[in-house]
Amino acid sequence: MNNFSYTKVANVEQAISQLNGDIRNKIVAGGTNINDLLKYFITKADKIVDINSITENNAIIRLDNGGVRLGALHTNADTAYDPVIEERYPLLSKAILAGASAQIRNMATNGGNLMQRTRCYYFYDINTPCNKRDPGSGCSAISGHNRIHAILGQNDNCIAVFPSDMCVALAALNATVNISGPEGERVLAFAEFHRLPGDTPNQDNNLKHGEIITSIDLPAKGFEKNYSYLKLRDRSSYSFALVSVATGFDLENNRIKEARIALGGVAHKPWRIPEAEDFLKDKEPSRENFSEAANIILKGSKGYEHNSFKIMLAKKAIIRNCFMALHPESQRPGAKPSL
Ligand SMILES: Cc1cc2nc3c(=O)[nH]c(=O)nc-3n(C[C@H](O)[C@H](O)[C@H](O)COP(=O)(O)OP(=O)(O)OC[C@H]3O[C@@H](n4cnc5c(N)ncnc54)[C@H](O)[C@@H]3O)c2cc1C
Ligand code: SF4
Repeated sequence: MNNFSYTKVANVEQAISQLNGDIRNKIVAGGTNINDLLKYFITKADKIVDINSITENNAIIRLDNGGVRLGALHTNADTAYDPVIEERYPLLSKAILAGASAQIRNMATNGGNLMQRTRCYYFYDINTPCNKRDPGSGCSAISGHNRIHAILGQNDNCIAVFPSDMCVALAALNATVNISGPEGERVLAFAEFHRLPGDTPNQDNNLKHGEIITSIDLPAKGFEKNYSYLKLRDRSSYSFALVSVATGFDLENNRIKEARIALGGVAHKPWRIPEAEDFLKDKEPSRENFSEAANIILKGSKGYEHNSFKIMLAKKAIIRNCFMALHPESQRPGAKPSL
């Protein structure tokens, strides 16, 4: 392990001051990802800034606009089991509980979940080239083992996927991210938070050095009547998504008034194509329409030696999850999906 100093801060102002806009000063929250990154020499730090004592970001608050604010330091477990989230945003609750394990969710924070790094095997193996870890060194996954990698939005610089479950639901719900930094406060739409690899695959998101996520806002609309989160993976627990889908519908007289569909496990960021959601507007919830929406979402998809199966898997997952969203009661433990 590299030597680093460790400091605890009591508020956001102190955190920003300690980070000092320097890339080598890193935040630790739950520590479930950054501790591994430090131990494996993937991330190097001069200073670790422990933000766990900041009390101002550790709650779930109802907002005047009908929405809800999730504190960045609230844990994933406390968020998923919060009565307001369970009742009004069950899609989010379900997505969080599909991730990791109970122990990890007890430690993992909401801010840390947005900032977690890819699970590409080569990113974690410092003996292999990886443009995300070591810009300009190349991408080992393109001609290597690429079963878990991207089929959408990738390029030859990086084909990694962003592994979060929670963020797929946040993308579908049109969440916004509240950020504080040396230049003050700003708000980013969820779709603008994470990045595609482009020419800078080392940058996962648009948070600047020295900034801190303080909270995440959910708009009033939670799709609590018709929602579903489907996660397809190699093991049924403790495993990252090969493909996941978050779906929310607003239905009236057997017509779709509004649709939201976001995918996880397929791209460098949660994948949402508004054109597909517009296509479903005012349409009947039918297999034919869901299939066409899936085609629009997956347009331009491209697989590699070991992950081409994901394209068909994603199509089937989208269609299946659209049906599941029509019958959210089918998602209770033990219930069979209604297809
Ligand atoms: C074995 C294992 C299995 C997992 N499975 C899943 C899964 O199936 N699905 C899933 O979604 N996730 C999964 N995870 C990932 C887990 O959800 C994340 O590690 C966790 O959410 C990160 O939160 P944390 O508070 O522990 O972050 P930390 O490890 O403390 O920090 C992670 C990163 O976020 C930064 N950071 C933390 N808080 C802030 C903030 N407020 N502002 C700015 N930067 C911040 C840190 O500097 C660091 O770069 C798994 C993790 C493990 C170890
Ligand atoms: S896919 Fe991205 S993270 Fe994985 S080896 Fe290639 S550059 Fe690195």
